[in-house]
Amino acid sequence: MTTIGILAVQGAFIEHAKLLAKLGVKTFEIRQKKDLNQTMDGLILPGGESTTMGRLLHDLEMFDSIKQMIVKGLPVLGTCAGMILLATDLENSEKTYFKTMDIKVIRNAYGRQLGSFFTHAMFGDIEIPMTFIRAPYVASVGKDVEVLATVDGKIVAVRQANQLATAFHPELTDSTVVHEYFLKMIQK
Ligand code: GLN
Repeated sequence: MTTIGILAVQGAFIEHAKLLAKLGVKTFEIRQKKDLNQTMDGLILPGGESTTMGRLLHDLEMFDSIKQMIVKGLPVLGTCAGMILLATDLENSEKTYFKTMDIKVIRNAYGRQLGSFFTHAMFGDIEIPMTFIRAPYVASVGKDVEVLATVDGKIVAVRQANQLATAFHPELTDSTVVHEYFLKMIQK
């Protein structure tokens, strides 16, 4: 059975667990360093506040271990703040985090008014609902990064090898498409 660890120090982690339960996937919460000893087939970095999550990852001494797991090929899905944690480059932030995904991300990229909105757009070849909450978007990608979705010409979903990231919150809609895509990455 597939088991996925969900970073649960802050943010929207419960919603990922609920959606994955619907798909028959076992999950557990990663709250402290010892939780990383459990066997996992994939890892989710949820939405929330990237600065807070980044700080907690260091305070709880989990940062280096998680980075190593991603570098070694553990499949990871980062949503919203999770995408920010993966990016090599942040356009409007002094801090960067794991830097494992070759993307440049702009935080709070839609401004105060448009920061949160709902739309439908293509993810690969399927149209899905997308919920954006004070969302980032991807300003540019490296050559090994595949663009999976754009909204109004802005990149909002990307994949690089074992890493998948979305600027929107796939766990906050009824659609399971993004999580099923992630499960396929795990099974390969
Ligand atoms: N604005 C948040 C950040 O910069 C991300 C928002 C979210 O995850 N919904 O970390």
